[in-house]
Amino acid sequence: MKFADRVTRVEPSATLAISNKASALEADGVDVVDLSVGEPDFPTPENVVQAAKDALDAGHTGYTSSNGIPELKAAIAEKLADDGLDYYSADQIIVTPGGKQALYEIITALIDDGDEVALLDPAWVSYEAMVKLAGGSLTRVDTARHDFELEPALDDLADAVSDETELLVVNSPGNPHGAVYSREALEGVRDLAVEHDFLVISDEIYKEITYGVEAISLGTLDGMEDRTITVNGFSKAYSMTGWRLGYFAAPSELVEQAGKLHSHSVSCAVNFVQHAGVEALQHTDEAVVEMTEAFEERRDLLVDLFADHGVDVDAPEGAFYLMLPVDDDDTAWCEGAIEDAHVATVPGSAFGTPGYARLSYAASEDRLREGVERLADEGYL
Ligand code: PMP
Ligand code: GLU
Repeated sequence: MKFADRVTRVEPSATLAISNKASALEADGVDVVDLSVGEPDFPTPENVVQAAKDALDAGHTGYTSSNGIPELKAAIAEKLADDGLDYYSADQIIVTPGGKQALYEIITALIDDGDEVALLDPAWVSYEAMVKLAGGSLTRVDTARHDFELEPALDDLADAVSDETELLVVNSPGNPHGAVYSREALEGVRDLAVEHDFLVISDEIYKEITYGVEAISLGTLDGMEDRTITVNGFSKAYSMTGWRLGYFAAPSELVEQAGKLHSHSVSCAVNFVQHAGVEALQHTDEAVVEMTEAFEERRDLLVDLFADHGVDVDAPEGAFYLMLPVDDDDTAWCEGAIEDAHVATVPGSAFGTPGYARLSYAASEDRLREGVERLADEGYL
């Protein structure tokens, strides 16, 4: 069979591939400590589930208007205004089946063959794949050597971007490192975006999950209104991964172009799920705080457990991931860890940064203890 070049130049999602491997081992009766996929282990808040049931009972089962139901777009505009992004009207929002689809539509709408896109490594696996699918070329800037901070990497970013750059992707709090970028770092990004006239995707899907710091929305910085595309979703903050609900807000002309992709591919996000999304945005403050507090305790526990085994890891300020320094051949390390210790992790090289394994601490404290013990017992620490 002949396949299109665009699809043969990408690999399957490494995060999902490893999580599938963990599930396959579990199906064979193996007890796997799965620290691979980034998925909160809490149930979706009850009131959100109820809102979906109510929406089904009320007959909200047909197509919706392609870009989303007015109630949800209004609630999203309000949430964005609370984040300081008070300039987005509801018409500048597209509701998508997951943040991933939002990113896919944006990148596909903006990037042509050979167009240059800059990423800050380590970068979430799907950015690279989406750029490659669109035919774009990648420029990658390493932040790992600066302990995942962006400010000290700004000189490298300045060297990497030029007037040829079309797009930069910024993800704070970040997957896979959990870093939350400082205002100074984001101002550095803004200065470069203005100087070279490029657009920036601000992927804020972990914005609600921070520990003692605030994640600043890039679009709140002076000069960024017309060049920021803000992406967010419900998967992480409200523990709604399987509901598939996300969105983006962007300058109107991009909404118009990306909206064509949206209407010709997914038509709309699921109707009753959109109704549940309104409830998630408006009535879950307490649940989000509780989940975030639990993540913080788990993060501290994991850092302490590694310290007990002589491995010092800085505590990340956001999201629920931690990059563990491992062998140079991180792929072999992760394969060994799952086969010998039955602990599933994702190699840093999948995110452009070899020499690390990404651990998701969206797992119970018992499982985290068990995972670290197994890694230590099998000689992986
Ligand atoms: N951005 C980042 C950085 C992520 O880690 C994820 C996780 N899946 C997404 C976007 C997309 O999430 P979803 O499609 O579940 O909204
Ligand atoms: N974003 C999560 C992760 O990095 C979920 C899997 C995915 O969508 O890649 O593990």
